[in-house]
Amino acid sequence: MLGSLVNDWWYDAEPAEAGPACAARHLRRQRLLVTSLVGLSYCVDLLVLGLFWRGGAIPGQLPAIYAAWALGHLLVFGSVHALGLGERAANPDLTGLQMSWAIALQIGAMLWAPQIAGYFLGVIFVVFSFGAPRLPLRTALGLWLGTALALGAVLWLFPVMGAMPLQWRNSPWVRTAAAAGFASLLLRCIVLNFRAVSLHTRSLRQAASLAAEAQAARERATRDGLTGALNREGLLPLLHGALDGVRASAAPCCVAMIDIDWFKSINDDLGHLAGDRALRMLVELLHQHLRAGDRLARFGGEEFVLLMPGTCEPDALEVAERLRHLVCRHAWSQVADGLTLTVSIGVAQAHRRDSADDLLARADMALYGAKARGRNRCCVAMPLPD
Ligand code: GH3
Ligand code: MG
Ligand code: MG
Repeated sequence: MLGSLVNDWWYDAEPAEAGPACAARHLRRQRLLVTSLVGLSYCVDLLVLGLFWRGGAIPGQLPAIYAAWALGHLLVFGSVHALGLGERAANPDLTGLQMSWAIALQIGAMLWAPQIAGYFLGVIFVVFSFGAPRLPLRTALGLWLGTALALGAVLWLFPVMGAMPLQWRNSPWVRTAAAAGFASLLLRCIVLNFRAVSLHTRSLRQAASLAAEAQAARERATRDGLTGALNREGLLPLLHGALDGVRASAAPCCVAMIDIDWFKSINDDLGHLAGDRALRMLVELLHQHLRAGDRLARFGGEEFVLLMPGTCEPDALEVAERLRHLVCRHAWSQVADGLTLTVSIGVAQAHRRDSADDLLARADMALYGAKARGRNRCCVAMPLPD
């Protein structure tokens, strides 16, 4: 649980489900997680301060006050996030405020215990590394300027904090160097972090777009370019899956082989383009009237296969008849003047021993029968004996 939370945070994961409510929940969770990580960072500070205190370098009150301030941070921002109170703010993460809170603590602690000022200066870097990339650049620079001025003044006034060797501490040049050096280090830290975050974000975006392209390519490979129906490659895995189902359970499964009647003469009389439009229209029409769970594929030229898992032969014949009526009653003249179109359909029910080829061959035989009997009709394949 904690592992997946931290993983989501590290990779800036997208919400698991779509929709505004889910996105809002996801953001709230992320904010609480970030606040918890801030809490973890404070705990590390307290451990270090505990060691300094144990060694006699600082008074015991310092870790106590530090802990109280840190607890205040977690309570204030944790409850604001948990209650969703900051959501109307320009930056609902309240990053700038949280950073200011933490930086104020570090400056206060430095003034109290200048002998370990180096540690608090280091923490300020952590605060900026963590928070600044979440801020707009302008806000981050504003916060940097405020921090640099406050710390510059502190370092200038109390050179002991700059960790300078004793004999140079009184030189105004050295004091300025300590203050300006710190300010410039902090600025470089911000800029490098921005760069790192933008590179990270770009590589995540690229990975997401590559994954989407791969998915689209997989999708294209299983679709017929002209009609958008599944193609043979798209159909076969579904057919194999359905046949596995037939073998594993007693559930029935049927296929219907659908072939346009006299399609060659449509091409010859009205042109190939009209033929193409008719194919597209046929697929659109059939798709509009398919039952949930049934899948249509273009099997070749003007031949289609309808896979009907969970359907027994009488029901499949009923579906085939319904589609045949639908096609022959459709107003084909909107596709090309004078166009009429009918289909012949062969229906076959899968047997436990059937391979995909066996089943399709029987549906094809039934289709052949429908053609032989005059077209625009449905025929059922002879059932196989058990
Ligand atoms: P039948 O009733 O016996 O099925 O006769 P038919 O004319 O429909 O059958 P035939 O197999 O003789 O002709 C099929 C035609 O389908 C021939 C081919 O040019 C045409 N065809 C195949 N694919 C396409 C396509 O993508 N677009 C167009 N416009 N025509 C196609
Ligand atoms: Mg045909
Ligand atoms: Mg044909």
